Amino acid sequence: MLNLEQRIKIAGVKVSPFQYIDGRRVLSKATFLNFSPIDGSILCEMSAADQSDVDAAVQAAYRAFPEWAALGSTGRGEYLRRLADIIEANAEKIAQVETADNGSLLAANLHFMVKRSAHNIRFFADWAEKLQGEGWDSNGIRYKVHYDPSGVTALITPWNAPFMLTTWKVGPALAAGNPIVIKPPEWAPLTCSLLADFAEEAGIPPGVINIVQGIGEVAGAELVNHPLVNRISFTGSTDTAKIIGSAAAKRIVPVSMELGGKSPFIIFADADMDAAVSHALAQFNNAGQVCLAGTRLLVEESIEKEFLEKFSQRAKQLKLGDPRQKEIRVGPLISQEHFDRVSGFVERAKREGAKPLFGGGPSKEQGGLFFEPTLFIDVPKDAEILKKEVFGPVLTFQTFKDEEEAIRMGNDTDYGLAATVFTGEETRGERVGQKLRAGTVWVNTYYARDLKAPFGGSKQSGIGREGGTHSFDFFCDVKTLSHKMGSFYH
Ligand code: ADP
Repeated sequence: MLNLEQRIKIAGVKVSPFQYIDGRRVLSKATFLNFSPIDGSILCEMSAADQSDVDAAVQAAYRAFPEWAALGSTGRGEYLRRLADIIEANAEKIAQVETADNGSLLAANLHFMVKRSAHNIRFFADWAEKLQGEGWDSNGIRYKVHYDPSGVTALITPWNAPFMLTTWKVGPALAAGNPIVIKPPEWAPLTCSLLADFAEEAGIPPGVINIVQGIGEVAGAELVNHPLVNRISFTGSTDTAKIIGSAAAKRIVPVSMELGGKSPFIIFADADMDAAVSHALAQFNNAGQVCLAGTRLLVEESIEKEFLEKFSQRAKQLKLGDPRQKEIRVGPLISQEHFDRVSGFVERAKREGAKPLFGGGPSKEQGGLFFEPTLFIDVPKDAEILKKEVFGPVLTFQTFKDEEEAIRMGNDTDYGLAATVFTGEETRGERVGQKLRAGTVWVNTYYARDLKAPFGGSKQSGIGREGGTHSFDFFCDVKTLSHKMGSFYH
């Protein structure tokens, strides 16, 4: 008999390869192999959910709903704050497993991602307790806005920052009073499995958190099509979003989608050059596998030479290699399939006439899934590399003449997730920021994110906003209760 409490050791940490449904580990009929992108080794064989597993998870969540909702924000907050504490106490383990599983930098996971994950849970637990629907009197009627839990919620997350991005959905969904079914990414499923152990340790009742591991087209598709799912929060690619959106449309289920980007990173001649170069380099973080990355560098003509010199010099110092080592700045791409996709973009860009100023292909020194940080110059106007999201360490460089052109080029994209502007003039920062069409615009900074702020994408980069009260607008059924004043006799 197979022991469902069995754990596999990943980087010295015990992780379950099974589903987590109704407070128990569950074996599926099928499995899939999970590889480490660092060296291509097989980490484990994971359970792969089918229709019956997904149904069991959704049913368990459905059964757990009334009690979880009835706890109220304060009762739920106690569990959630315990969960956040447990996450923090396990920071080293989470970071180690995440790095082994998706190749992201260990230091970044340890010092930023895990802390942020605990904060995601704590912040929304606190926010739910403070959340007050407005109330007002008008024409003899008293109006009051209520944030009601909306029921079983599906959370579908990507592999580039699985633990952090999952908690960013888990926090508000649970705080809102919804039980959840999480579908972790099949290319990096392990830290989500740890989350189930933490939930159990926090005493979260069975059925409130369920995890269905598996393949997107099977487990994910079953989940979004399940008739008892009332909300879908998705982070991933625009192509998958279209499939999920169609499924949701059939049942009029609200979806929140945070998708890809082709964000501009605009540098004016009056900008602090060193700050601009440093932040531009950050676009290679996580080997460019970041939806927010400003992959189109747009630089004012007069500083072209100076910028390219400084940027190339510093980019060449970025060390590629094992993401567990301190001095490493760029790790591997997630999988062979993704590596081939990135290589395909780079080869086509070269064929279209773009020139790599540095990089331009796989790392010969590292081999495996390591790809050189790459900057394309002389990019033809209609080149694919300016339009499609690569999701790798590949940037393009273009110049602009003036502010108007910078804005036009910045907005010349089907996407609208983020935009960055570097300038020495405050009014210009404001002016340009207002004209750029993106969910998030940074001026003289990059990646600053506050959980109160609405977050999401415009155009092909998404639907809806999450963050602060916006998260509750999505995860709750927002209701207006109106009663006639003076109409109660008892
Ligand atoms: P990426 O390109 O970043 O891998 P995907 O959109 O393919 O992005 O994957 C993001 C998440 O969506 C993953 O958890 C994946 O399993 C899931 N997914 C993929 N296809 C589907 C689908 N048809 N229905 C639901 N979820 C899916």
